Amino acid sequence: MGLLTGAVLAVLPHVPRPVMRRLSARYIAGEALPEALQRLESLRAAGHPGILDILGEEVDGEAEAREVARDYARAADALAERSLDAYVSVKPTHFGLRVSESLALELYRQLAAHCARIGRFVRVEMEDHTTTDATLRVFETLRADHDNVGIVLQSRLFRTPQDIARLAPGPLSVRMVKGIYLEPPEIAHVEPEPIRQAFVDGSRALLERGARVSFATHDDRLGDRLIALVRERGMRSEHYEFQVLLGVREPLWASWRADGHVVRVYVPYGPEWLAYSLRRLKKNPQILGHVIRAALGRDGGARSR
Ligand code: FAD
Repeated sequence: MGLLTGAVLAVLPHVPRPVMRRLSARYIAGEALPEALQRLESLRAAGHPGILDILGEEVDGEAEAREVARDYARAADALAERSLDAYVSVKPTHFGLRVSESLALELYRQLAAHCARIGRFVRVEMEDHTTTDATLRVFETLRADHDNVGIVLQSRLFRTPQDIARLAPGPLSVRMVKGIYLEPPEIAHVEPEPIRQAFVDGSRALLERGARVSFATHDDRLGDRLIALVRERGMRSEHYEFQVLLGVREPLWASWRADGHVVRVYVPYGPEWLAYSLRRLKKNPQILGHVIRAALGRDGGARSR
């Protein structure tokens, strides 16, 4: 962790909430659903489909998980009412995975069934490695009954190629990511290049088995290799898309869009935004480094080189 990053991390919890809200406005749509919908409408006007995420994780108990599930159902309804090309994306521990796996499965099932009725999709997100097995079990059970669900796989984890091979045959939608959780070197790549290479290899394996792959990254060097991969395989936009986080490297999205690729934007919101953001920054200070560079106008714009 750099000195500046360490100093900023120490100060952040003491910064007044309204100041933090202004600082995070670029990355977080707001506290409530209407603000997130407004962002999605603006993104639609700019040609970007969306993803809706309610910030939060690690609920305290079953009642809280059920409340989160109701919020997600309401959010999905709002997307359908506005005919937005957008879907919902849920962290397993926000649906109570650590309370009980069967609770998380039940809530994902309810949401998937509800979303099927209103023509929406549900993404099961991936959290740190202690949850990977349970998340994949929940996803595979869910997928056996619902075709409007997808999963996330992390290229930094050594296990991901085996996980890809073990996924049951049939239609499959995967968001490939590097993985936001800093994992121990015994189980994960820690250097940038092996993480990139594993991202490309995993994406190739998924495309070969007919999966629809969402490349979730803001790494332009990786993006170039993924574009070469889809061109080499003659893939059209129904087989893949790019996904990006709200506020992160917009000029890069524009260059991908201009090149004919779909770029879907992840829009997080919710009353938990402050606690959640502080927790994430503390667990992965690299993110804060990115945010500081972006604030100083040194985030590389369209291209990092
Ligand atoms: P990096 O090398 O980390 O970043 C490339 C460049 O992008 C950086 O140099 C910086 O300029 C910029 N940048 C990247 N991140 C940020 C940021 N937060 N703020 C400001 N600038 C930034 N991870 C999971 O583990 N599970 C998930 O379910 C998951 N879902 C995701 C969904 C979407 C749509 C996206 C885009 C990411 C998701 N991630 C998830 C996070 C992902 O794993 C990476 O941690 C994140 O995308 C950063 O990696 P990168 O590929 O952009 O490359």
